[in-house]
Order: sequence, then structure tokens, then C-alpha cells
Amino acid sequence: MIQIENLKKNFHTKTGDVEALQGISARIEDGDIFGIIGLSGAGKSTLLRCIALLEIPSEGSIKIDGKDLSALKGRELTAHRRQIGVIFQGYNLLMQRTVAKNIAFPLEIAGVSKPEITERVARLIRLVGLEGKESSYPSQLSGGQCQRVAIARALANNPKVLLCDEPTSALDSFTTKAILDLLRDINRQLGVTIIIITHEIGVVRQICNRVAVIESGRFAENGPAAEVLAAPKSVAARQLIGVGGAL
Ligand code: ADP
Repeated sequence: MIQIENLKKNFHTKTGDVEALQGISARIEDGDIFGIIGLSGAGKSTLLRCIALLEIPSEGSIKIDGKDLSALKGRELTAHRRQIGVIFQGYNLLMQRTVAKNIAFPLEIAGVSKPEITERVARLIRLVGLEGKESSYPSQLSGGQCQRVAIARALANNPKVLLCDEPTSALDSFTTKAILDLLRDINRQLGVTIIIITHEIGVVRQICNRVAVIESGRFAENGPAAEVLAAPKSVAARQLIGVGGAL
């Protein structure tokens, strides 16, 4: 279970302070597919980066299974980071490495033995449906295939949580559906908790069981996806869902 309590993040810039997160609290249960939806600038990426331990919160805490991650340092932090896989917008693949070598990369860093890397990479390639593409380079792949490599790489160290930053924003509708189906299969087969940042309500509709609507660094709404979609209460949610005309 992930518990986020009163999370705040301020950025100090030349033109003044930006309060990107203004007190976010949430509980994400094991096995959830939790969507965080909001318009551009609402604070989605900052929240994801805080959960991924890539950004240090200004205030508040994030606990995974009761352990406060924001208090960790050094080796303990590195070990806990491995519980969290991230797929970034734009895939962030290593262009000079093949598909298999991209997926192997986090395992090499973690010091996994060569035979185990070979075995795990083969299993991950099958999981994401990239058989036959092991020796291809990212430049030879479609957007959907690149995203599959990114998903396999994020799963390499057997994380408990997979964070997805706008995983389908660059994909056509057919490929979007295929990638979301893959994420749902991974959630079911491996029991990985998934957090998806998106600005597309279709993503929430297709796979999320829970959703939080973020607006100006706060959750305007947070609940079961079916309930929020059927009866959005906040202006932000109504805007995103397209209820009540253009606001
Ligand atoms: P979203 O992902 O929803 O588009 P972000 O989390 O990227 O929103 O940004 C939220 C707010 O924080 C915006 O006002 C943005 O300009 C600001 N922000 C994000 N990252 C930084 C940063 N590194 N430095 C200064 N301001 C930032």
C-alpha cells in the first residue's frame, strides 16, 4: 500500500516560488490501477517524480508498506527505488543499445549475474510481446514497440509499483488500446500496482479502478473511477470528462 500524506513541493525560481503540489493525500492499495488526471501544469509530473523518489518533497511523506521513503538515503534509497519502475513520456531508451540490452541495463546496474540477466530478459521480451525484436535498435521500432521495451525495462527488477507518465500520449488509438491492455495484463498477472499520469479521460475509462483529479497542485476529486466518471463533482473533473459543456 502507498500512503501519500500532505505532500507539498515548492520550486524556487528567479521569478518567484511555484507551489506545484499543495498538500496531496492519497491511499493507493496493492493491485490498484490508479489514474491521476489533470490538465497541463496541474502538477501531475511533479507528483509522479516525488513518488518515484526523483524529486524531494518540500513537506509531507510517501510511505510504501508503512516505510517513509522520503526519509531514506544512500543504499537504502537505492534498494527502495528498485521497488518502483517508471516509464517516462518519450520512452527514454538508450539508442545505441539493442532491445535486449536496453531491458538488461537496470539488471546490469543492480549486479545481477549474466545467466540470470539472459533468462529474465527473455521472459520480459515474451511478456511484452517483442519476440524476434531482441537485436533491433530503438530507431528501428514503432512508438508502440518502444513503449513495450520501456515497460519491460521498468519491470526488470521486479518492482511492486509501476509509474507511468503519459504512457500513450504519443500513440494512435489502436496502439493506445494495445498498450493499455498490456498494462492491465501486467497488473493482473504480476500483481504490480500501477499509477498512471494522464490528461486523457479515455485512459482512465479503459483501465483505472481508481482516479484522482489534480488541479493546481491539489486533488479536486479522488475515488473509484466508475463513480467519478459517472458523477464528477469538481469543475476540473467535469471539464476533463466533458460534462456540462466547455467550461
Ligand atoms: P503537469 O505534469 O500536470 O503538466 P507539472 O508537474 O509539470 O504539471 O508542473 C506543475 C507546476 O510546477 C507548473 O506550474 C510548472 O511550471 C511548475 N514546475 C514543474 N517543474 C518545475 C521546476 N523544475 N522548476 C520550476 N517550476 C516547475
